[in-house]
Amino acid sequence: MVTPLTDQGKRKQISIRGIVGVESVAEIKKGFNRHLHFTLVKDRNVATPRDFFFALAHTVNDHLVSRWLRTQQYYCEKNPKRVYYLSLEFYIGRTLQNTMINLGIQKACDEAIYQYFDKIQKIAEKYAPAGLLLQLASLFLSNTLCIYIAPFVYNLQAFYKKSCLAEEADDWLRFGSPWEIARPEYILPVHYYGRVENTETGSKWVDTQVILAMPYDTPVPGYMNNTVNFMRLWSAKAPNDFNLKDFNVGDYVQAVLDRNLAENITRVLYPNDNFFIGKELRLKQEYFVVAATLQDIIRRHKASKVGGNTKRFNFDHFPEKVAIQLNDTHPALAIPELMRILVDIEKIQWEKAWNITKKTFSYTNHTVLPEALERWPVDLMEKLLPRHLQIIYEINQKHLDNLGFEFSGLTKEILIKKDAKNRAPLKCVLSGERSCNDLEKIIMQINDKERFKDFSDLEVDKFQNKTNGITPRRWLLLCNPELAELIAMKIGEAFVKDLSQLRKLNVFVNDDIFIRDISKVKQENKQKFAQYLEREYKVKINPASMFDVQVKRIHEYKRQLLNCLHIIAMYNSIKKNPENAFVPRTVVIGGKAAPGYHMAKMIIKLITSVADVVNNDPLIGSKLKVIFLENYRVSLAEKVIPATDLSQHISTAGTEASGTGNMKFMLNGALTIGTMDGANVEMAEEAGEENLFIFGLRMEDVVELDKKGYNAQEYYDRLPELKEVIDQIKNGFFSPKQPDLFKDIIDMLFHFDRFKVFADYEAYINCQQRVSQLYQNPKEWTKVVIKNIAAAGKFSSDRTIKEYAKDIWNVEPSDLKIPPPNEPKDLLNETATANVKP
Ligand SMILES: *Cc1c(COP(=O)(O)O)cnc(C)c1O
Repeated sequence: MVTPLTDQGKRKQISIRGIVGVESVAEIKKGFNRHLHFTLVKDRNVATPRDFFFALAHTVNDHLVSRWLRTQQYYCEKNPKRVYYLSLEFYIGRTLQNTMINLGIQKACDEAIYQYFDKIQKIAEKYAPAGLLLQLASLFLSNTLCIYIAPFVYNLQAFYKKSCLAEEADDWLRFGSPWEIARPEYILPVHYYGRVENTETGSKWVDTQVILAMPYDTPVPGYMNNTVNFMRLWSAKAPNDFNLKDFNVGDYVQAVLDRNLAENITRVLYPNDNFFIGKELRLKQEYFVVAATLQDIIRRHKASKVGGNTKRFNFDHFPEKVAIQLNDTHPALAIPELMRILVDIEKIQWEKAWNITKKTFSYTNHTVLPEALERWPVDLMEKLLPRHLQIIYEINQKHLDNLGFEFSGLTKEILIKKDAKNRAPLKCVLSGERSCNDLEKIIMQINDKERFKDFSDLEVDKFQNKTNGITPRRWLLLCNPELAELIAMKIGEAFVKDLSQLRKLNVFVNDDIFIRDISKVKQENKQKFAQYLEREYKVKINPASMFDVQVKRIHEYKRQLLNCLHIIAMYNSIKKNPENAFVPRTVVIGGKAAPGYHMAKMIIKLITSVADVVNNDPLIGSKLKVIFLENYRVSLAEKVIPATDLSQHISTAGTEASGTGNMKFMLNGALTIGTMDGANVEMAEEAGEENLFIFGLRMEDVVELDKKGYNAQEYYDRLPELKEVIDQIKNGFFSPKQPDLFKDIIDMLFHFDRFKVFADYEAYINCQQRVSQLYQNPKEWTKVVIKNIAAAGKFSSDRTIKEYAKDIWNVEPSDLKIPPPNEPKDLLNETATANVKP
């Protein structure tokens, strides 16, 4: 990459992605050659791109391992409070480049590989096995920039992620991961089924089926601070004696087949999507992660130096040393599981165990959409986890006993229904002192007003809001290095670790040269993305058109349909008046639909059908193009976000808890069109509402409209343009071979539209016209872009994590002083690493 010119035409050395020194480049090359030779056993003549990728990854990994070991030694020595993040969400992003950036060696690697090949991207893009890391979890780990906590993330090691649109499996572990290391020495049993035996010494869960949980660790480096935390994933293994009965009677084949079935638990990971699927396998997975993780946490706790010389171990200090954060309701079983361990195994009396449990757990709630909330049938729970069900009943009973009569609104039904278990409220009861909502303020209001009203009245302090964030390393340095370096030249490099410093850019809002440079970077990113689209979709893209983008999971509440109606309206308007001036647009919509979510799949079908008509109409030409981005994922987000002019976040007010996509776009110099929902509200607060394109109903209006009764027909009758658009969809204009293809969408829009698409239609169209107007004036547009980037500082996940540390986990943020890496020590040296248990 060419370093952009400064005002004076001078080049300045920017080191946010590392510095290229002759030595560092030579070292990378040496490592690369060694790994190709010794690790991969290939020479240059026969090496495949995959070999090159692995050789590079191993070289980068060499820079990681000492830091990893040292970080863990440091935790072992200082014994700080440890924070554990339990999550079944798995948003993967590629690891190689992120690791290079955080270690400060990206430029050196770039240069080394450039000398060998031509662009590192070529290897990284094609062969990087999906890297690893779910979004929240990865930022959780890598963001512990200067926080004195010892975080762990636990998850499943699933071999296939369900790729929802085509439902093809994306087996990112088939070729192995260069980062991951198996830890068979910490393999742990997980029990299922069986029955509860009541003995004199308490309840016993017996006759269970056992599956083993094998841990795999993946390192996650902090940004240039010598810290390497790790994420532990669990993989299911059948025990050696699994179904030995069959084996003994000679049915060897059946025994082997059954082993395979047992290991299915971690073969597929359900996508996280605000959509509850309710499969037994999912419940098994949830318990699998929880049971393995809690054993692991307790083992580590018992092995640590707690309270100096306690001979007999006790759990009194557990909550002082352990905080467990539950990401959504998926790992909720951790609560009855810890109770089971404390009461049944450790023989701690119920009230005391309950106190420990309450102090240990906090829970992050992300949604109040009813279709997202988990409700497990009691008979399934009874069969799979009989002891846990008893414990849940008991927690419920004790809670109700405590309430007395004052809270008559809180019936037994709220916690446990006859046929289902609604776990969100349950969590409210048990997340003791420090519970947490990660919801934006607006959802807090919903909570307070409706669903959790009884709970928040009861214990106000339990509820708090934490604004989400994104990591500026991945979402700026990695995906948009040109913009990152341009900013660094203006305001220095410290913004990478302290994003609030972006405010300093406000000085340059009227700086012509800066305006020019900012729009030049955007134009180059658009050019690159246009080439990608042309290659993948065989559609001619006009790089001067406005890139108008909505990429996120497909969901009714996110209202991709509203966007689609606007596309059709634009199409109709060009067709009617082809001579009229029109601000050209390339509209990109992308996202996956959850398996089994019929309406989401129909919405995709509608978008692609509209795209077919629009893109092939010669009268439309380069004025309007519509692309549906398939297989939207982190690596694709990294391409599209830096190239976006207009970013759409148009959910019905009161439905999006936060969103993080909106923040990524803001940081990368896109303007937002959006409703007052989720983090849009805070973005408007930070940037000034006049610098976003805000439209539509607000929360109060939605509540008001609900009272009055939303009637879609009214809008259809009143707005002729809307009527035309809807009639086209209804009459098969976009699906001539099957005119009633979109009947379900039409029925929904008129009769069951919980998200009130028509109610915001008019305001949306008008707002889109304001967008087009401003876009015609590139200089004024870019000024607003600069104001938005300058206001994006709040949305760093560093800030989020610091708030969690202070307000929820009760850990002191302080600088980690992990020493720089060194050569491995001699085993007999007393400071050797042998006694460190990860
Ligand atoms: C950031 C991100 C999301 C979240 O997008 P929202 O607009 O907040 O829903 C979803 N998928 C991927 C791949 C992302 O990178």
